[in-house]
Amino acid sequence: MTVYSQPGQPGAIANYRDRYGHYIGGEFVEPAKGEYFENPTPITGKTFTEVGRGTSEDIDRAVDVAWKAFDSWKRTSPAERAVILNKIADRMEQNLEQIAVAETWENGKPVRETLNADIPLAIDHFRYFAGALRAQEGGISQIDENTVAYHFHEPLGVVGQIIPWNFPILMATWKLAPALAAGNCVVLKPAEQTPASILFLIEIIGDLLPAGVLNIVNGFGIEAGAPLASHPRIRKIAFTGETTTGRLIMQYASQNLIPVTLELGGKSPNIFFEDVAREKDSYYDKAQEGFAMFALNQGEVCTCPSRALIQRSIYDGFLADGVERVKRIKQGNPLDTDTMIGAQASNDQLEKILSYMDIGRAEGAKVLTGGERADLGGDLSGGYYVTPTVFEGNNSMRIFQEEIFGPVLAVTSFETYDDAIATANDTLYGLGSGVWSRSADICYRAGRAIEAGRVWTNTYHQYPAHAAFGGYKQSGIGRENHRMMLDHYQQTKNLLVSYAEGPQGFF
Ligand code: NAD
Repeated sequence: MTVYSQPGQPGAIANYRDRYGHYIGGEFVEPAKGEYFENPTPITGKTFTEVGRGTSEDIDRAVDVAWKAFDSWKRTSPAERAVILNKIADRMEQNLEQIAVAETWENGKPVRETLNADIPLAIDHFRYFAGALRAQEGGISQIDENTVAYHFHEPLGVVGQIIPWNFPILMATWKLAPALAAGNCVVLKPAEQTPASILFLIEIIGDLLPAGVLNIVNGFGIEAGAPLASHPRIRKIAFTGETTTGRLIMQYASQNLIPVTLELGGKSPNIFFEDVAREKDSYYDKAQEGFAMFALNQGEVCTCPSRALIQRSIYDGFLADGVERVKRIKQGNPLDTDTMIGAQASNDQLEKILSYMDIGRAEGAKVLTGGERADLGGDLSGGYYVTPTVFEGNNSMRIFQEEIFGPVLAVTSFETYDDAIATANDTLYGLGSGVWSRSADICYRAGRAIEAGRVWTNTYHQYPAHAAFGGYKQSGIGRENHRMMLDHYQQTKNLLVSYAEGPQGFF
């Protein structure tokens, strides 16, 4: 067990500046209006740094700088860009512990996750796209004996990216790695709740990219996000966040007729078929862990398996064991490597979760465990902690239909395979889902029948760079991860060339 010191305290391996501006043109700059906002850590609720409050002037400046940088960045070869992405990955790996602690302090998530999942996944993302880029080939088609069509992958230009607060560095990486690999320049706006860890990362890797290729403008959604998404000189907008905000982003983009990718909300079903409980073996143990996965990252995951559907014949026993498993989740100081669940990312989010607990009770759902704010004592008393919570109810309740984005599970039962699929699909969303069965046949059929972009089968919450990720229905448009992402950040140039000696013969 290791307990890392809090940034700013003696012995800390990660320390933040007292104040950050935006990162534009390879340096930290003051916000145009000179205004800053306070950034608290969810671990104690105390402010640890302030961050530039961006406006349309800052966005204009960043977009200008990015277009200037694009003149030479677009001329780099895939091999040259791949070298840079690999260097970024190496630098992050050399500073893994520092970045992980900084991310935990910023977001409140346990350091065991940032050390072992978030940051290693971010590192691998840069490596994956460095490799995918090298493997990408243009096409040559012979049209006839004298005519050839050459296809080139060309970058879009300057692209805008807007990200949420639940995985600040990983969400930034999911967008940055493919965009930069494809040869674009970027203006990225982090979430106002978690702006600082990305700036901390930039201080570590910023010098590896030519100035102006990657720019970060901080600020609030309406003040900085909207001017970015509606900017007439960006060539694409990529967004991760709430479904309601996603609708606005699409409207902004329509003004400029630019492509949009949206990664939005979810209400993911996690289905446990009866053969899961045939034996109390290691597979059963794995399925039980799958039941508890709603608490990963404090439930602040768009794919949180927030609805558990358990077959009636095993319902009572499987649920009782699952609730016991949830009670054993160790809550505590996120900087302690033994801690399994940390703090919610913001006070607003904490209050939203607590209000859904009231909604669940009011609509008649039964609390099987948790259901309240947790006070961890000492200086953690000011932090934003919630006990992992399991509700029992039915799929028409609001806690089964609305995204809570907290460690709150809603459980119900089903009788038959068809009932399971019908309940799973009875939602506006279609992002993640889980299927648990020892039968390959059931897994395959259920996996194909669920309307969601990602169906984890006998596992959950794995996010490798090479697996396509994205939503069906109101969970989004487009995909992230996988080399197909390069297509979202490139346009195809076709040169159609005639080598014939004479005219075509029309005139
Ligand atoms: P949010 O939509 O409120 O904010 C996301 C980002 O959008 C922030 O940077 C915010 O400043 C910005 N923003 C807000 N209003 C804007 C506007 N009018 N114009 C431009 N930008 C604006 O979402 P959130 O509460 O920060 O994030 C949580 C949501 O993100 C959840 O719904 C979750 O499901 C979703 N999410 C989805 C994925 C995915 O991959 N599908 C991943 C993580 C989170």
